[in-house]
Amino acid sequence: MVLAESGEDGIVSCDACEYAANVEKAELVYRNLETPAATAEPIRVDTPGQKTIDDVAAFLKVETNQLVKTLIVQTSTDEVIAVLLRGDRELNEIKLANLLGVDWIVMAEDSVVSRVTGAPTGFAGPIGLEVRLIADAEVKGMADFVVGGNAVDVHVTGANLGRDFEVEQFADIRQAVAGDPCPRCDCGKFESWRGIEVGHVFKLGTKYSDSMNATVLDDQGKAKPLVMGCYGIGVGRTVAAAIEQNHDDYGMKLPMPLAPFHVLITMVNPKDEQVRDAAEKLYQQLLDEGIEVLLDDRDERPGIKFKDADLIGIPLRVTVGARNLKDGNVELKERSSGEQSLVAVETVAAQLVQTVNEALLVNL
Ligand SMILES: [Zn+2]
Repeated sequence: MVLAESGEDGIVSCDACEYAANVEKAELVYRNLETPAATAEPIRVDTPGQKTIDDVAAFLKVETNQLVKTLIVQTSTDEVIAVLLRGDRELNEIKLANLLGVDWIVMAEDSVVSRVTGAPTGFAGPIGLEVRLIADAEVKGMADFVVGGNAVDVHVTGANLGRDFEVEQFADIRQAVAGDPCPRCDCGKFESWRGIEVGHVFKLGTKYSDSMNATVLDDQGKAKPLVMGCYGIGVGRTVAAAIEQNHDDYGMKLPMPLAPFHVLITMVNPKDEQVRDAAEKLYQQLLDEGIEVLLDDRDERPGIKFKDADLIGIPLRVTVGARNLKDGNVELKERSSGEQSLVAVETVAAQLVQTVNEALLVNL
């Protein structure tokens, strides 16, 4: 995973140890979770038009973490299950599917919800339901909470586990968020990030070697299926991720190993014969040295060429112009740092070769 604001994945990492994981996989810990004693009686209350967690919490003047939401889901094996989560939490569908041993789960269609709960989507609650109830482990530590009333515009306050309904299983089925305690160390908390997945590793086990009969002899001379794994790197994504981490308002700052050209030569005025000769000579020198070089000899204003150079982000730019050439110099600009310097036209090729090779070696 490469951290990037625009990343498609949520990531959490511990602020105290090395643990880091995609939120789809991040483990949560629940230490000493005991159900507090009930102090309230279940009361059905009218909540006209209040369908979302935020609406209901505001209407009943409670925090969203005092609500327990009931999600009606359908599994790939066509079972309907009710899932309970603290009001401010999100279900992790992958964790739930893994727990149930099914390929996938989806939110049940409205028709299924109304068949199971007797009410339209938005008012489901655990009391009186006749399907399996699975709750996030965190719910076990809650008492006197608000749930849906399985009727239009009705919720129940003062609901309690055990007394009002039974949960078949408590498990880690929610999405990890910033602030959750780390599962690996005693003191750390999660911080959250966005990231781009650029590579992955899958442990395939013996799923494919079994079906292909791919075996190996063990130390007893007995044939055993190979344990398989596979690995992938997203080549296109790697470039995108590198740009996310290396850019400014003017464009890309391509790292040397990824850049399609190492050096850009910008002719300030291609009609000036001296400028053209010097630039083309340098271009040929660099090509001969195996440097990937691009020559901008377009008949455009210098400002446009410089803007384009920043935009496409070639790591090194050499500007060949009449004014500096008079003193035997060209201007060298490093795209990533913005550093500029004047270099003698005689030595610039050697310097560029050295800079490029060093950057490529360092990055290997
Ligand atoms: Zn930790």
